[in-house]
Amino acid sequence: MSEKKVRVRFAPSPTGPLHVGGVRTALYNYLFAKHHGGQFILRLEDTDQTRFVPGAEEYIIESLKWAGISPDEGQGFGGEYGPYKQSERKAMYKPYADQLIADGKAYYAFDTPEELDQMRENAKQMGMPNWQYNSITRSNMKNSLSLSAEEVEERLKKGDPYVIRIKMPRDLDIKFEDTIRGWVSVNTNNLDDKVLFKSDGMPTYHLANIVDDRLMEITHVIRGEEWLPSAPLHVFLYDAFGWEAPKFAHLPLILKPDGPGKLSKRDGDRLGFPVFPLNWTNSDGEIYSGYKESGYFPDAFVNILAFLGWNPGDERELFTLEELSTEFKLERVGKSGAKFDPDKAKWYNQQYLRKRSAKELADLLQTYIGENNLKTSPFELEPVCELMKERATFIKDIYEDGHYFFGEVDKYDEKTLSKKWKENTSALMSEWLEILKNISSFKADSVETEFKDFITKKELGLGGVLPNFRLLLTGVGSGPSLFSIAEILGKDECIKRMELGIEKINELKSQEA
Ligand code: GLU
Repeated sequence: MSEKKVRVRFAPSPTGPLHVGGVRTALYNYLFAKHHGGQFILRLEDTDQTRFVPGAEEYIIESLKWAGISPDEGQGFGGEYGPYKQSERKAMYKPYADQLIADGKAYYAFDTPEELDQMRENAKQMGMPNWQYNSITRSNMKNSLSLSAEEVEERLKKGDPYVIRIKMPRDLDIKFEDTIRGWVSVNTNNLDDKVLFKSDGMPTYHLANIVDDRLMEITHVIRGEEWLPSAPLHVFLYDAFGWEAPKFAHLPLILKPDGPGKLSKRDGDRLGFPVFPLNWTNSDGEIYSGYKESGYFPDAFVNILAFLGWNPGDERELFTLEELSTEFKLERVGKSGAKFDPDKAKWYNQQYLRKRSAKELADLLQTYIGENNLKTSPFELEPVCELMKERATFIKDIYEDGHYFFGEVDKYDEKTLSKKWKENTSALMSEWLEILKNISSFKADSVETEFKDFITKKELGLGGVLPNFRLLLTGVGSGPSLFSIAEILGKDECIKRMELGIEKINELKSQEA
């Protein structure tokens, strides 16, 4: 028998910005699809219209695009199985609910919200805080199983509001094999008669989800662990319709860096790292920071997410999206929660920064400067990036740590000044300046050779003198190779900075005295 073509979907509800956990679900779906040469689909599950948040749909689409995991099909991407937004599929669901009623697998329930509240309240009073509408309690409620056929007919004719509920049988074990968790078995005595179709004419998540998975020919459902409790109902529904269920894989939670529990927006605020892919401004004007705006590269972001729950089984840590697609197997996704490590996230970004060519970094730096209205550099950005990249985690670090390439030196690091700048340093630096002026080919190597010769002749140690030279050229006490900095600045600029610096420092020192 030929295997069905793999079709997987990411099915978020557009109720706000997508959390990193959601993007990881999308990523694993994407990787699974690519690994098997299948299709990755984006479906928006917006049946709960009370939770509609403007902008959330666009945010989801933009986030996937930014991460480079664009769906092959789906809302915003087109395809043959649309519409891909459940509110636009509204008319499709009712016949399925009707079919379950006709088959005796679901029923009409006419209980008003007030009556349901009353029932819960009564049960609470009697010491049963978790009242459920189920195979036992349904006989005391107003539904097509407890009321006479005439009354039901009458109510439907009158247009009484109703919902359609699944008729969960008593004492049946529902079993299914989850690719990550193994066999799951739940007894129906622990399940309630969930609403499948609401009085507002919309299906609930459960009905819409499985009808769409069926109509969109989804072969594997890969989703967060929070949906595991719904899976037995879904399996039951597939069975009730006589459909083959897709394979299930429930992904582990992403946990807080510093304690038990799910990673939340608040942890990000508290510990200073983004929990969302892109910036999001909520209706109160509050901004949640995004990976993109915080300076993460999309390929680093994807690599970070891939490792929150999955690993290749060996020591390798750096994977492009394509390599991930080749390596990714659901069987290698762990059951237990994956702790989010903000330092590791930064480490990944650093690795991806280093992997980029000086040309790429220079372009990114140029964009960063433009976007933030910063001072441009009179020097070539490529060598600046080449030099600064070893120490940078984000593009902004190149700019901030290398500020001396983007403006004059007007401050001198006080610690270096007080520790290293001695009585005779000004004279020594002036002497070195005269030598520097005569260097004909002004390259890092030649400046270094001359400087070392000078120090040797003076019988001084490098550690005592180099920081002062650095101070004059950059104003700071440490950084990458000073001779390379000198080469980038060029002879004229070095001379200018040294002359000005010696003068300014002399002034500072005389004020101190
Ligand atoms: N709409 C659900 C969510 O918001 C999807 C769950 C599923 O993938 O079945 O995550």
